[in-house]
Amino acid sequence: MGIQENLLNVRQRIALACSKVNRLPDSLTLVAVTKGRSAQEIKEVWAVGVTDIGESRVQEAHLKYEQLKSCKCEPPAKWHLVGHLQANKAKEAVKIFDLIQSVDSLHLAAAIDKQAASMGKIQDILIEVKTSPEATKFGLTPQETAGAVGEIARLKNINIRGLMTVAPLVDNPEKARPYFRMLRELKDKLNLEMDFLSMGMSDDFEAAIEEGANIVRIGRAIFSS
Ligand SMILES: *Cc1c(COP(=O)(O)O)cnc(C)c1O
Repeated sequence: MGIQENLLNVRQRIALACSKVNRLPDSLTLVAVTKGRSAQEIKEVWAVGVTDIGESRVQEAHLKYEQLKSCKCEPPAKWHLVGHLQANKAKEAVKIFDLIQSVDSLHLAAAIDKQAASMGKIQDILIEVKTSPEATKFGLTPQETAGAVGEIARLKNINIRGLMTVAPLVDNPEKARPYFRMLRELKDKLNLEMDFLSMGMSDDFEAAIEEGANIVRIGRAIFSS
């Protein structure tokens, strides 16, 4: 199947998951994760109405950003950084991304704030929370999150818009559900004015939506043939 059909299928699955919990599909942002995909493939999803693009690496995003900017033929898109960011790449990231979803330390937040201040930008971010104990995952632990959110909220050029998590890889999406629920409960407990809960990928986005996700990040289900 091509990108168009895949996308149609993903949108139907999103609509079905939304209807199960009485939500409107419009209340949800679909981020097409385009890591490893070409600028041409990004154009294809733009052509069928996806305007939110997610990238894992600053350098790769930068290349495609420039390619797409120079062709001057595209509708505006929002760029999301979903992969781990090193503090020494904060400057490049602040230049490109509308939403940095993967802020996982005070150190990184401070670096982003500094770069944003020098560019006169208020940088929207999400705090990445490590909801599962898997060693390879980035993110603050749920226990660390409240304190970190308090500190980061004091930075003048950063706006915390919500929380993000990557669930562990499991064979059955139901096994990811407790991690999604944990993130939602954490957001409720923090009781801040945060709009976004970014959770759910190709294999588990329905469970994430049912648990309250309003940003889903989908790569393979859109781009794999
Ligand atoms: C790659 C990636 C995705 C998309 O994953 P798929 O399984 O391809 O849908 C979502 N979030 C993050 C953080 C990723 O790195």
